[in-house]
Amino acid sequence: MKVIKFGGTSLGSPERMKKVAELVSKEEAIVVLSAISGTTNSLTEIAQLLYKNERNTAKQKITELQASYVIFIDNLLQEKAQQTKAIDLVSSHFSHIDSFTEDLFTVHEEKMILAQGELLSTALFQLHLEELGIQSCLLSALDFMRIDKDLEPDSFYIKHNLERELKQCESKLYITQGYICRNVFGEIDNLKRGGSDYSASLIGAAIQATEIEIWTDIDGMHNNDPRVVDKTFSIEQLSYNEAAELAYFGAKILHPASVYPAQLSEIPIWLKNTMEPTKLGTKIAKTVDDREFTAIAAKDGITAIKIKSGRMLLAYGFLRKIFDIFERYKTPIDVITTSEVAVSITIDDNSNLDAIQEELRYLGEVEVNKNLSIVCVVGNFSHDSMGAGNKIFESIKHIPIRMVSYGGSQHNVSIVIETEYKKEALVSLNNGLFNQN
Ligand code: ASP
Ligand code: MG
Repeated sequence: MKVIKFGGTSLGSPERMKKVAELVSKEEAIVVLSAISGTTNSLTEIAQLLYKNERNTAKQKITELQASYVIFIDNLLQEKAQQTKAIDLVSSHFSHIDSFTEDLFTVHEEKMILAQGELLSTALFQLHLEELGIQSCLLSALDFMRIDKDLEPDSFYIKHNLERELKQCESKLYITQGYICRNVFGEIDNLKRGGSDYSASLIGAAIQATEIEIWTDIDGMHNNDPRVVDKTFSIEQLSYNEAAELAYFGAKILHPASVYPAQLSEIPIWLKNTMEPTKLGTKIAKTVDDREFTAIAAKDGITAIKIKSGRMLLAYGFLRKIFDIFERYKTPIDVITTSEVAVSITIDDNSNLDAIQEELRYLGEVEVNKNLSIVCVVGNFSHDSMGAGNKIFESIKHIPIRMVSYGGSQHNVSIVIETEYKKEALVSLNNGLFNQN
């Protein structure tokens, strides 16, 4: 059995949702759906308004969103009875959302609001399948998807509960929600923005799927950022490691966490394009052809922190003290470079920056630079290979470099630059490494 996941843009209009139904109609699969595009953003806005106690504006947004669903249904479904079912369903979800506008708004309520997007898209999709006479079972992800006390997916729980749910409803085709889950207390929670890919991969691993397909609006992973660079091409094959690096360092097509569960079970992931389903897309698997350069990605909003201290010279335990501070503030570190007297670290989450800086000052002189980007070149740079570094730096010799990390893995060279030079860097690397200009 396959797992097939469709993102919000693939469901963005009734026509697209119909196309998705066509694509899966003959499959034996669990279909994982995101919310219809724009919905999670609107629900987030509604929650933000409720936190600020702007109830009337929130109510207005809720009414607007509900109205857009009514129009959607009108174009998705033909039969009157089916339309009435859909309208009732939408009304019940929106009155649930509306019920949170009455009193003090909590984080828990925000999560319940955010869950409505996927609950709506999957239910409407099933009503459409029903109308087409295609039998399917709608599984609630809230009955099997779960995160533990560290907010990590509980694979054991997911596997056992999903197996039970699958047994309870025999079908070739299952539909379920991406993104949403329950937490360790059994409350409604989610896998964070873009988390539907992660759901698909976790489900794939739980059922030992033959493959996991992630359908979006682009024909696979490209060799460079198509939003920034004109001439990019789709990559036929990627290794799990390459895909994880690219997804983490900015390739928006895939949620970075979604690679690992598939990798553990060696399940191939296919990245496919709903708009052009006949195109091959990208296959992510264990091994790929040996090639020097695979792709370039970039991640913005990076802050570099340099800690300089004479005490670091010949000392041990210094790095541990630094890492300890970042760990306590739950702030992940991306790139790190060291010299004998200084350490530079990058982070992409500044929410605890002031407190971190305050504590780092006890260890040495601290310097912070914001508005940086990490440009990440992914490929195969084994420890006995030569020349890749030269080609990279030759391509961007006119761009000032803040940090470089080479050799951390055999698949990644990370270069930290000021964001204002990002476009130039991506274009020059496209030219220098892929001959695309
Ligand atoms: N609907 C959620 C979001 O917009 C999850 C997803 O689409 O992957 O972030
Ligand atoms: Mg996505």
